[in-house]
Amino acid sequence: MSNATTLVIGTGIVGIATAYYLSRAEGHGRITLVDRDQPMAYTSAQSGENYRTWWSEPAMVNFTSRSIELMEEIARDSGNRINMNRRGYALCTRESDIDTLVEQVRKGYGDRAEDLLRFHTSAEAPGYQSFESPDWEGVRDGVDVVSNQELIRARFPGYDPEVRNILHVRRGGDISGQQMGMYMLEKLREAGAQRIVAEVEDIVAQNGFTVTLRGADGTKTEVFDRVVNAAGPFADRIAKMLGVELPIYNTFQQKIAFEDREGAIPRATPFSIDLDGQEIDWTDEERAMLQDDPEHAWLAGQMPGSIHCRPDGGDGGKWIKLGWAYNETPGTATFEQPTDPNFPEIVLRGAARLNPALKAYYGQLPRGMHHYGGWYTMTEENWPLIGPMGPEGAFMTCALSGYGTMAACAAGELCAAWMSGGALPDYARGFALTRYQDEALMAALAEADRGLL
Ligand SMILES: Cc1cc2nc3c(=O)[nH]c(=O)nc-3n(C[C@H](O)[C@H](O)[C@H](O)COP(=O)(O)OP(=O)(O)OC[C@H]3O[C@@H](n4cnc5c(N)ncnc54)[C@H](O)[C@@H]3O)c2cc1C
Repeated sequence: MSNATTLVIGTGIVGIATAYYLSRAEGHGRITLVDRDQPMAYTSAQSGENYRTWWSEPAMVNFTSRSIELMEEIARDSGNRINMNRRGYALCTRESDIDTLVEQVRKGYGDRAEDLLRFHTSAEAPGYQSFESPDWEGVRDGVDVVSNQELIRARFPGYDPEVRNILHVRRGGDISGQQMGMYMLEKLREAGAQRIVAEVEDIVAQNGFTVTLRGADGTKTEVFDRVVNAAGPFADRIAKMLGVELPIYNTFQQKIAFEDREGAIPRATPFSIDLDGQEIDWTDEERAMLQDDPEHAWLAGQMPGSIHCRPDGGDGGKWIKLGWAYNETPGTATFEQPTDPNFPEIVLRGAARLNPALKAYYGQLPRGMHHYGGWYTMTEENWPLIGPMGPEGAFMTCALSGYGTMAACAAGELCAAWMSGGALPDYARGFALTRYQDEALMAALAEADRGLL
């Protein structure tokens, strides 16, 4: 099938990576990428751009580890144009019993767990590698479990002094997703791939795929041997055009970014996650007002954990990013962002629990703050869908939830392997639509931690 023509629908990071690895696997550029908008303009423009190997399932650890390996290859080949750094993820808790958290890490790492888990219980902790430098090369894989409060205060002076344990996931950091997308698009152009701006309105599967495309100069049809559904939050619509129902839904998640002119967050801070649930730090008056308002009363009650905060824009920059994916209500994907005007103050107060210096911004977030959001497109178990999709010649790379930037390379490579008959990695079967027929796997996933951040 290596002479086949292919239409990749969607030029977010996932569609671009799928085209890039397909072109590499088959050694040609008979690929057309189509999007209703410019590349990397929709969900992929809203990503926090963080990456990690922290998951409780070996399939997800192996999948994201492979993706990071591929990103490292690009970083090396491009003189680190993608700004990859590696200060890790610091997962913080005030709990003293962290057995469940450590067990999840052990399960995810499988046979490698003994080598990859390092426990630090003394204040000196000579084996706890420094994270002063942002460089990704030379950082050990695995997790440092930091359980000494004196050590925590020395290495993370800005954190809430009540924090008792930190799981510091070392193969983690952030990249520039935009630069990664542009790098791949340049390589695709050199290989002869085409890109068009048009909306896919219909697909008929008969002797290939006849695709109706509506662009600025009207509507036309084109025929392709294969199609790839990488339409992000609209993947279900594309699948329906081919008579396939995908078990996916969308939830809207938000972030804020602003200039940290008070210097509240030290620039060498890892991506910091407060795992503990909390009641937001409202004044008594604010809390009473919220409780009296049925629409907002939930904000006065117990909130879930996993609030995150990190420096943005490198060690010489001043910006920081905060996020909190507490919304679990599925919604209908739209191109406009249904942001909640209350979110900035909510996430600020949530994040100030772990980083008390952020309290300086209560009620006075900088005017130049960015508030934005996008859709997590996901399956119930939070595993992606990659591989064949219905009629022969139709494929999908979708449902990459809140981890599509970090997983795009391995997802693209996997879809390309399905398409070109390449060797499939151990996680391939679990990410295919056929997993829903594997009752034992689905029962295990229903019990597992979903790794939602
Ligand atoms: C707030 C937020 C924070 C995130 N943080 C992280 C993070 O820190 N790390 C991480 O790894 N991931 C993160 N993610 C997830 C990541 O951003 C997504 O998983 C990823 O961007 C999905 O890429 P995509 O290419 O599948 O989708 P998209 O970028 O949405 O691309 C899909 C494209 O398909 C096009 N399209 C759809 N329908 C049609 C049609 N009919 N015709 C033509 N074109 C069509 C759209 O225009 C769009 O450009 C975050 C997501 C959000 C929302």
